[in-house]
Amino acid sequence: MMSHEYDAVIIGSGPNGLAAAITMAMAELSVLVLEAKDTIGGGMRSAELTEPGFIHDICSAVHPLAAASPFLRRLPLEKHGLQWIYPPIAAAHPLENADTAALKQSIQTTAKALGEDREAYIRIFEPLVNDWEKIASDILGPLRIPYYIPEALRFGLKAIQSADSFVGRYFSNEKARALFAGMAAHSMLPLDKAITSAIALVLMIQGHSHGWPIPKGGSQSIANAMESMILSLGGKIERNIKLESPGEIPSSKAVLFDLTPKQILKIYNDALPDRYRRQLSKYRYGPGTFKIDWALSEAIPFKAEECREAGTLHVGGSFEEIAKSEEQVWHGIAPEKPYIILVQPSLFDSTRAPEGRHTAWAYCHLPNGSETDMTDRIQDQIERFAPGFKDTIIAKHTISPAAFESYNPNYIGGDINGGVQDLGQLFFRPVPSLSPYRMPLKGHYICSSSTPPGGGVHGMCGYHAARRALKDIFDIHFDISKT
Ligand SMILES: Cc1cc2nc3c(=O)[nH]c(=O)nc-3n(C[C@H](O)[C@H](O)[C@H](O)COP(=O)(O)OP(=O)(O)OC[C@H]3O[C@@H](n4cnc5c(N)ncnc54)[C@H](O)[C@@H]3O)c2cc1C
Repeated sequence: MMSHEYDAVIIGSGPNGLAAAITMAMAELSVLVLEAKDTIGGGMRSAELTEPGFIHDICSAVHPLAAASPFLRRLPLEKHGLQWIYPPIAAAHPLENADTAALKQSIQTTAKALGEDREAYIRIFEPLVNDWEKIASDILGPLRIPYYIPEALRFGLKAIQSADSFVGRYFSNEKARALFAGMAAHSMLPLDKAITSAIALVLMIQGHSHGWPIPKGGSQSIANAMESMILSLGGKIERNIKLESPGEIPSSKAVLFDLTPKQILKIYNDALPDRYRRQLSKYRYGPGTFKIDWALSEAIPFKAEECREAGTLHVGGSFEEIAKSEEQVWHGIAPEKPYIILVQPSLFDSTRAPEGRHTAWAYCHLPNGSETDMTDRIQDQIERFAPGFKDTIIAKHTISPAAFESYNPNYIGGDINGGVQDLGQLFFRPVPSLSPYRMPLKGHYICSSSTPPGGGVHGMCGYHAARRALKDIFDIHFDISKT
């Protein structure tokens, strides 16, 4: 029998690559992670992008999905140095006249501010929050018949709706409509598309159940804690190794790719069966992201107090304004008034900036691969709700959708979700299959966000891909909830 250097080699050290490595190592297998860059973490890196002493998250900044992840939540990452910080308000949404809609821990308190929609809000969210553990175990992975059918149905029938029809059905209050739009627009889809309610519901349920934490020291701390756990389990990580061809992979029983279809096609090209190659080449990528990091002389002077207590802000105004921004992006237009996701970590984490100074992180969506400079439009939108903001800027760093792909080849044209997450590609990513992680090459798997359940720092793609490999190759049935 052929001897192998490792049981499993994982290509890429994003949250999913590291999650796959931890899963395999927890099953007592020998594991090697290869990372192209000199730092690990993929979308979980932090660095001094602007000025010395200002620590910025290059990609992800806020972690409702990590806090709620049935996988990450069960890892002892705190023992490996990770410390979560919970801002008093998960997310705030500034509106005209210093008004705000806010997602708070309490469903009742959140609903109270929503006027005539108070009862509807409570009726929607109370059962979903109560049943979240069951719902999560059914939906955050490959498509299958749910274990908890009534709970999954209750969630699914709402989640499948477009945000547009959801608010039409349940909300009439402007604040409730805007709040929902800000959440749904994380999907990077026009708000009249089916399933745009899903991400809104997931994020809002997390706000009420696990919160929207930020990691002390930046997202790099999550990667560092995951690395520490891999090393403690006997695994290895090697940096500065960019895989270009299959021959470079050390011999192993399983290979898991934390890469998207475009790179896998490049690495394997003719070695893939025709049908699979055709399927991968039809895989669709979505809009890109234009991001700014600022070093600030003081906190952002939002008019509304609740905005100054929130970790995350959705800046873009009413439901209609946000819907227009996302519609334009989808149709290849850089919006004049973009919808912005903004995080202000240094308000809650003093390690992010020199004393008295602050950092802020914000991005908007743009057409895939766009080079349009959105700096002024983003800053104008913030100034609209925080007059004087521009005067606080000491330094800034910008990155366009095209530049994101140069930074990390997984962000094709600046798509941060590893591919469009619409109805056709939410579960059937990267190919329509009940085992979408498995490649048609013995021992080969995809574990990136181009597999279910898609983008975000939750590690569920890596966990499920590793479980698939464990079952197929090693006959090991691994379940994190039983550890
Ligand atoms: C601007 C931005 C903001 C975001 N904000 C959030 C947020 O606040 N919260 C959230 O949950 N998510 C957020 N995300 C999304 C999240 O970061 C991604 O969905 C997540 O990182 C995807 O994880 P992954 O493991 O699939 O891939 P990645 O994190 O992309 O990791 C892939 C890794 O593979 C490496 N690699 C690539 N090619 C090769 C190769 N050939 N050989 C070896 N290594 C290779 C890369 O260097 C990288 O380290 C954001 C992303 C961006 C870009």
